[in-house]
Amino acid sequence: MTVSDDALADFATQHRKLFVLTGAGCSTDSGIPDYRDANGDWKRPSPVTFQAFTGDDATRRRYWARSLIGWPTMANARPGAAHRALAQLEAVGRVGLLLTQNVDGLHDAAGSRATLDLHGRIDTVCCLSCATRTSRADLQVMLRARNPQWGTLEARAAPDGDADLDGLDFSAFDVPDCPRCGGMLKPDVVFFGESVPRDRVVAAFAALEAADAVLVAGSSLMVYSGYRFVQAAAAAGKPIAAVNLGRTRADDLLTLKVEQPVGDTLTRLAARWERSVPG
Ligand SMILES: [Zn+2]
Repeated sequence: MTVSDDALADFATQHRKLFVLTGAGCSTDSGIPDYRDANGDWKRPSPVTFQAFTGDDATRRRYWARSLIGWPTMANARPGAAHRALAQLEAVGRVGLLLTQNVDGLHDAAGSRATLDLHGRIDTVCCLSCATRTSRADLQVMLRARNPQWGTLEARAAPDGDADLDGLDFSAFDVPDCPRCGGMLKPDVVFFGESVPRDRVVAAFAALEAADAVLVAGSSLMVYSGYRFVQAAAAAGKPIAAVNLGRTRADDLLTLKVEQPVGDTLTRLAARWERSVPG
């Protein structure tokens, strides 16, 4: 136990209904690497933009080729300590909404139910023409069938199920269209350069308004779509705690900063809760 543990437990005791905002740091233990280092800077080339994906065939072929290789890592990822601890906090009635910037679905897999996937889900594919949503696992079967020569490659996976395959020829990669209408398929995630759907933003702000305080877990808050909720909480005078290794964009807005590994810290918090605090 550290002083930070006590302070975090006090914070969670004093503020009954938490608005939890999570990021990539919650999923690194599950084998899904973080985009950013402890200073919030890019560790890898920044991901493809919506404009490049929709506007350029070569970019799209390259994206799906990399996704074909990276998908098994995403599909096989299992919840880690942070996911499990947050599900426990929800079970004892402390979580109003868990808003995640992750697209891996691991909070749901851990048993959290009051979740909102701010940036969508990598396990779903959406047609940009008819808006039909289908399973990414089903698309994997189609991708492999059309591109058998790619099926045996392996590469490091990135947070969006992408993989490093620089230097390969993507020009022959065969990308399936929507089986229903022939439209363009896209992972059902918010790409860089794309807006978060409005209904999702409205639902998140409503939950923030109903919350007593904000708990940020495993996020550097460098992406504005997540940071704005912390900004709004600060403007509304709601206390904000963050558990994150390294700097966050909101450091000057925080009531409490716990610079410890998020999985271990939240596990100790959840355990303490179950022992000593009535739900
Ligand atoms: Zn379609």
